[in-house]
Amino acid sequence: MIKMKRLVVLVALLCVCDAVKFGQLCSGNSGNSRRTSDTWGSGNYGARRTNGRHEGLDIRCSDGSAVYAPFDVTLHGKLIVYNNPAKAAIDQGINLRGGGLCIKLFYVRPDRTSGSVRKGERIGTMLPMQSVYPGITSHVHVQMCDKSDPTPYF
Ligand SMILES: [Zn+2]
Repeated sequence: MIKMKRLVVLVALLCVCDAVKFGQLCSGNSGNSRRTSDTWGSGNYGARRTNGRHEGLDIRCSDGSAVYAPFDVTLHGKLIVYNNPAKAAIDQGINLRGGGLCIKLFYVRPDRTSGSVRKGERIGTMLPMQSVYPGITSHVHVQMCDKSDPTPYF
């Protein structure tokens, strides 16, 4: 019985370790390296913001880069990030489901907004973040639909 419990724990751990991991999200960033700290803030989940906390994780992505499907995904429509005319240049994103996850990607202009896309295939273009936040580390903001921490999936 004890051995059985160990097995269950082991399997559970394996499931966590082997849990879905994001594939490359952005052209030019094969390791999904993250935005750390810049003059505009930090890209970590939970980082302090003017109003509350950062609800996603920021993955570096140069303006104009191709953005790729991080899993085999289905596309679930475009999203509006700010609904703020002053930020219109980057006020788009896309809703995805894949790898058992429901995900929002901010600052991406989607190529299309429905259907299925295989992991690694292009889904859109990184919007011109420098035009709104000069000097920021340009990035795709990855947010789980339930606002949980996406970090373990990287
Ligand atoms: Zn962010």
